[in-house]
Amino acid sequence: MHEKIKEFEILSLKIRNCKKCRLWETRTHALPGEGNVFSKLMIIAQAPGFTEDKKGKMFVGPSGKKLDELLEIAGITRDDIFMTNLLRCALPHNRRPHPSEIEACTPYLDREIDLVNPTIISTLGYFPARYIFEKFEIKDKLEFPEICGKVFLVEGKKIIPLGHPAALLYHSSIEEKMVENYRTLRRLLDST
Ligand code: SF4
Repeated sequence: MHEKIKEFEILSLKIRNCKKCRLWETRTHALPGEGNVFSKLMIIAQAPGFTEDKKGKMFVGPSGKKLDELLEIAGITRDDIFMTNLLRCALPHNRRPHPSEIEACTPYLDREIDLVNPTIISTLGYFPARYIFEKFEIKDKLEFPEICGKVFLVEGKKIIPLGHPAALLYHSSIEEKMVENYRTLRRLLDST
């Protein structure tokens, strides 16, 4: 077995059994990242939703359907990407993450970034973008939705914040812009 896959298995086991913050008390499953560990593209969402928590898989609920639609339009399949979350356990009632929860959980994300070593990192929504901007010391203002679809070059990586596909469930008016942003992602993949 490839060394990288072995490392992921060890990490995934740690995540599944993690009790480092209080979110373990209300979760059904803690979700490790999933997908192509050799991918150039890593997508980082905020946390598992209700369906993802119950089924123990990423993006299998309504927002997953929207993500698949956007990826399909852009000609990207899930096999092309590695998907993960800022937090591995669901947030009760989809509340905002607490700073102590982000601090406890993000060493897992840091390790996944080290292991996958993607050349493109795409964040979905505000909190993953804020974390990645701080991690890579990007000083630009994090203003949503203006920042979505812009590309930031740092440490040999291209960082592209995107809106979360779940937003389309409530605001269909932003679909055109979001589709264009996912097409930008496709162009980045082609040029990397
Ligand atoms: Fe552990 Fe992260 Fe779940 Fe908290 S959210 S219990 S740190 S896996």
